[in-house]
Amino acid sequence: MRETQHLSVLLANPRGFCAGVDRAISMVENALEKYGAPIYVRHQIVHNRHVVERLEGLGAIFVKELDEVPSGERVIFSAHGVAKSVPEQAERLKLISFDATCPLVTKVHKKAEHLINRGYHILLVGHAGHPEVVGTMGQVPPGHMTLVETAEDVEALTDLPDDRQLAFITQTTLSVDDTASIVTALHNRFPDILAPKSEDICYATTNRQQAIKAIAKRADLVLVVGAANSSNSNRLVETAKGYGAPAAYLVADVSAIDWAWLDGVKTLGLTAGASAPEHLVQEIIDNLRQRFDISMTETSGPLEDVIFRLPRELERIPA
Ligand code: SF4
Repeated sequence: MRETQHLSVLLANPRGFCAGVDRAISMVENALEKYGAPIYVRHQIVHNRHVVERLEGLGAIFVKELDEVPSGERVIFSAHGVAKSVPEQAERLKLISFDATCPLVTKVHKKAEHLINRGYHILLVGHAGHPEVVGTMGQVPPGHMTLVETAEDVEALTDLPDDRQLAFITQTTLSVDDTASIVTALHNRFPDILAPKSEDICYATTNRQQAIKAIAKRADLVLVVGAANSSNSNRLVETAKGYGAPAAYLVADVSAIDWAWLDGVKTLGLTAGASAPEHLVQEIIDNLRQRFDISMTETSGPLEDVIFRLPRELERIPA
C-alpha cells in the first residue's frame, strides 16, 4: 500500500473576518430578521461570493446602483464606504438607507473632510477603482484629492494646486511594506507634506500581513482563502511571496485548489483574507486530511478583540 504523504500545515493567526466585515454582515442579517425580505444591498456587502450568496439565500438583493431599488425600500451600503453622493441619492429616491461602512473607513473619510476644510490638497495612496477609493475620493469636492498607486506615480505627479498645502491619507487595506515605500517617495518629493498622525492601514490588514510574514519563509506553498476582488487578500499573496514563500495562490474555496500545486510540498501555509469566512478554511483542512497525513500548527498572533457596534436600529433583537 502507498504511504500517505505527510504535510505540515501552518495556520496563520489571525486570519479571516475582521470587525468591520462582521459588523456589515450582521447589519444585513439583522435587517432581514427585523424587517423581513427583501433588503437591498448596494454592491457586495464584503468582497466574498460565499457571503453574498448566503445572504441572497436569506432574502438580500444585491444591486450595483440605487436606481435599481424600488422607492420606499430599505438599502444597506457596503463595508467599503460610499461617496457622499450615494446617501444623497438614496434620499432623493426615498429609500431607507443604512450605512455598513467600516468605522475605520469612516475615520479616513472624516480625516479627508477635515483636511480639505483646513485648506489642504490630499494625495490618496490606494488602488484605482477599488470601492473604498471611490468612496473616499467622493468625500471631497472634485479636484481636491489625487490618487497615487505607486512610488513612480509620486514622481510623475503634475498639476497639483500651488495655493494648497499637501497632505496624504491611505486606503485601509494596502500592503504595509509597499505603502511605506510610497510614503518615503512622498516625503522625498514633498518634504512639507502632512502625514497622518495615526496609520490608515487598519489593524486587521496589518495583523494578517504580519501573521503571513511569520509563516512565509517556513512554507513551500501558501494558500490564501479570499476573493479575486478582495484587496487585503491579494496583498496577503504578495506578502507571502515577498517574505520567502516559493509559491502563493489566492483561492476562492477548496474547489479552486489545483492539487498538483502540492506535489512535493512538505509545509503548507494557510490563511484567509478579512472577508473570507472561516468555514472555507475548515473545508480546505478537511480536504487536506483526506489526501495527506497532516500535522497542524496554528501560529500565535495578537488577540483581536475589536468589536464595532451596529447602528441602534439594527442591533440584534434580544430573543
Ligand atoms: Fe474595516 Fe479593516 Fe476590515 Fe476593511 S479590513 S472592514 S477597514 S477592519
